[in-house]
Amino acid sequence: MAVGTELLLGQIVDTNSSWIGEQLALAGIDSHFQTKVGDNLDRMVAAFEQALDRSDAVIVCGGLGPTPDDITRAAIAAVMGVELRRDEAVVERIRAMFYRRDRQMPANNLQQADVPVGARVMDVQPGTAPGLICPVRRGEPGPATADPPADGEKVIYAVPGVPWEMQKMVSECVLPDLQARAGERHVIRSRTLRTWGYSESGLAELLEPEMRRLDTTGEATIAFLASGMEGLKVRITAKAADDETAGAVLSAVESRARAVIGEAVFGADDDTMESVIVALMQSQGLTLGLAESVTGGLIAARLTDVPGASRVLRGAVVPYDREIKTDVLGAPDVNAVSSDMALAMAEGACRVLGADVGLATTGAAGPDPHEGADAGTVWIGLHLDGGGEASRVRFNMARTMVRQLGTITALNLLRTRLLARGG
Ligand code: ATP
Ligand code: MG
Repeated sequence: MAVGTELLLGQIVDTNSSWIGEQLALAGIDSHFQTKVGDNLDRMVAAFEQALDRSDAVIVCGGLGPTPDDITRAAIAAVMGVELRRDEAVVERIRAMFYRRDRQMPANNLQQADVPVGARVMDVQPGTAPGLICPVRRGEPGPATADPPADGEKVIYAVPGVPWEMQKMVSECVLPDLQARAGERHVIRSRTLRTWGYSESGLAELLEPEMRRLDTTGEATIAFLASGMEGLKVRITAKAADDETAGAVLSAVESRARAVIGEAVFGADDDTMESVIVALMQSQGLTLGLAESVTGGLIAARLTDVPGASRVLRGAVVPYDREIKTDVLGAPDVNAVSSDMALAMAEGACRVLGADVGLATTGAAGPDPHEGADAGTVWIGLHLDGGGEASRVRFNMARTMVRQLGTITALNLLRTRLLARGG
């Protein structure tokens, strides 16, 4: 259950629910409903009642903040039929958190330490909002009492709305608790291979023999997740008695999958195209210079997002006017959207920025053609080890997509050439 009037107004998108849904699926826990409700006590209580009638456990995110519209605690107390009581240990925890940031705790934050009687505060507390594990006794509603309910058959987990705080609590506390309650004695582990270049059906075809094999052994499953601009994810999930067994199964399936998908796999799990490139260039002792016309700095933005990018990236020139391509990068007076221009820009980036490798883009982002090139045309130039190459791609899409796809295609070209180079 996601709480927040701003969700209903469309001011923010409820990405928390989709993230939690994905985690529940991975953990092998059935999730049947997702609800959104505004910051209103009666409607929240009604939503809790309905949720508890049809499910064994409810995860609620949001409304644990220090402001008057943060009433999730009060709604849970009402559903549990108990009072809220200030937990001094939590007050101290919040106070200490402010102290570490050199700030005084505002009095408002005290309300974050109000805990429904009988609820347990999660150990994991990344921010000021404590997460709560709230046992709920279903039955006749009674007046609010000071008696805690017995650890009932149902439970509400309350976590904050702030995504990173929510994620830490769900991973480290909610999921293990849910699995313990379900009496699960196995672990579920997964590994995601990140790929670029194949369509979903293309990947499915390559992996079909392995998927058929897994169908009979039942040791793991393979699923595809289309991630738009970021390629396709191949997720291997193993269910086993313990971590070690699951890890061994994952590694075996991973190497069989890699053997058929080949270099379209650019990384695993949290790897990104740009993090992989920074690592490859660093291990090869190479520096990079960029000349980005049609991508306007998007390649640089992605690379500089990677910690340690400064050891690799010398800089970027964004030559949007043809005059800058010639004056700054020393490109010849050729068509601005051409193989020759892409090559000259890549070479120019190396020279001007003092880099070992030059990567360049030039094209027609659209919607209109540019210098005789159709909208959606992107030329990518690469200058590496004294030689140059240029390749053309064409995306029949809107301007934003052309720029984004041009960016990842250029990065992928660089990645494959670095791999081929080795060392
Ligand atoms: P907390 O319990 O930590 O105070 P809250 O929901 O009361 O959370 P908000 O101020 O509503 O606090 O949200 C804090 C941040 O979390 C905002 O940046 C908001 O965009 C984000 N957020 C809240 N709910 C969701 C959600 N369901 N999905 C994605 N982001 C969310
Ligand atoms: Mg809120």
